[in-house]
Amino acid sequence: MSTTADTPLLRIRDLKVAFDTQKGSREVLHGVNLDLYAGETLAIVGESGSGKSTTASAIINLLPGTGHVTAGSITLDGQELTGLTEGQMEKIRGREIGYVPQDPMSNLNPVWSIGFQVKEAIRANGLANGRKEIEARAIEVLQQAGLADAAKRLHQYPHQFSGGMRQRALIGIGLAADPKLLIADEPTSALDVTVQRVILDHLASLTKEKGTSVLLITHDLGLAAERAEKIIVMQNGEIVEAGPSREILENPLHPYTKKLVAAAP
Ligand code: ADP
Ligand code: MG
Repeated sequence: MSTTADTPLLRIRDLKVAFDTQKGSREVLHGVNLDLYAGETLAIVGESGSGKSTTASAIINLLPGTGHVTAGSITLDGQELTGLTEGQMEKIRGREIGYVPQDPMSNLNPVWSIGFQVKEAIRANGLANGRKEIEARAIEVLQQAGLADAAKRLHQYPHQFSGGMRQRALIGIGLAADPKLLIADEPTSALDVTVQRVILDHLASLTKEKGTSVLLITHDLGLAAERAEKIIVMQNGEIVEAGPSREILENPLHPYTKKLVAAAP
């Protein structure tokens, strides 16, 4: 099914997610709705624990631990994603939906070289075949993510990279397949403000050039307003407000959003 102007690329309806705990099931998403249109950047904003990462990982069926979807619908280009088998999901993850995880240190394996990990992602997603071609593609992916001297750095390990370089490597992996949708979960939160800006500028120019839609997750309302056309505000597993970034900043309606706006620098 193709996406038309009024069909969102990503549509989430009444999504509920629960974690099983020793005390029973604990619901952490209580009915999330969102529409992300092709070519758009949509930000999810909310404080730690509000359910942003859970929403992101539910979309790509990578909920941690005992997390599972208990209700609702997630469609990409009209295709229902909940209920797909892992095999079907693997074809979508990495190819149609790129993902930049929240924490580069725990998402890059410390005992594998950066090059090996990028090449594995390329191989796993069938983006190139044969040793030479895969290596060339890995260099290209890292260069595209703005990593200087990419060819020389293939043999280096995550600890030899700065935080910004690690994040660039993960952005490269996320965009390697030229996905329709990129989910970036706090892609620069671990970085200082200057590096953050450089990396987000680079990400914005890449996605704009390719027409990639972006779901940007951040706890920083100012950053969200700067980078996204629309914002969704989450609190305790619920969406409390959604709208164009400018409207949210200028005329927040929900008390929680008002508090965030007042606190934004
Ligand atoms: P955010 O990304 O907005 O900081 P999360 O989506 O990570 O928030 O967390 C939402 C809720 O889900 C929190 O209450 C958190 O404790 C819970 N949660 C997240 N991961 C797990 C897990 N692996 N097991 C149990 N509960 C979890
Ligand atoms: Mg999170």
